[in-house]
Amino acid sequence: MAIRTIRVEGDEILRKKCKEVTEITPRIKTLIEDMIETMYQANGVGLAGPQVGILRKVVVIDVGDGPVVLVNPVIVETSGEQTGGEGCLSVPGKTATVTRPNYVKVRAYDEKMEQRELEGTELFARAVCHECDHLEGKLYIDIAESPVMDTDAYYAEMGEEE
Ligand code: ZN
Repeated sequence: MAIRTIRVEGDEILRKKCKEVTEITPRIKTLIEDMIETMYQANGVGLAGPQVGILRKVVVIDVGDGPVVLVNPVIVETSGEQTGGEGCLSVPGKTATVTRPNYVKVRAYDEKMEQRELEGTELFARAVCHECDHLEGKLYIDIAESPVMDTDAYYAEMGEEE
């Protein structure tokens, strides 16, 4: 496994749409392993293909329950709403307020190309929405409801900690 370079805002690749994965080739398998390692090394909750320069529909997420791999994810159901601070490894050190569904159900393939559905609330739901946006070339700063601030300043002002 290897740590990959995380692309930061301003890099055009973050604005491009991803292609579906048709088969778990050795390259894709290595990509998934590297993305998990890169996410942990950066203390992130999630990472999407474009963030490491690969325009493939691959997402990894860990909200504290171990790594979840989502290949070709499609959000099939959402409900409720949550409004809170959100950040991104591609916009380092920054946070802004974003409203997301409080519940999502996502259909995706795993690292063995087996299809399944996963559901979750709160941080998991936020992370799934955020990472799926990356696959469409969208960043959270596009839909932020507050100024994009330094993370420390944001939480100092909002008086909350996540
Ligand atoms: Zn992100």
